[in-house]
Amino acid sequence: MPTYVYKAKEAGCGLCRDTFERKQSMNDPPLERCPECGGPVERVICAPFLRTGRSDKSVLADDNLKKHGFTKLINEGGGKYRKTW
Ligand SMILES: [Zn+2]
Repeated sequence: MPTYVYKAKEAGCGLCRDTFERKQSMNDPPLERCPECGGPVERVICAPFLRTGRSDKSVLADDNLKKHGFTKLINEGGGKYRKTW
């Protein structure tokens, strides 16, 4: 089952303020609410999930991701992600 990364759209609680992961089936609808505080959350597209026929280097280039409105997150381990901008 794929793991999706979410983060709060607003202030958020201890869970969703930064980012959190949720294992979900591909068929499950994306979470809209934080399971802890019920605040609105959005799914973050995580770089490793982006797979296209093109070279990963160009597809994952910061400029390209930014252009398409993605937030690139650096996985720092332990479920922590750092935004690159
Ligand atoms: Zn929350």
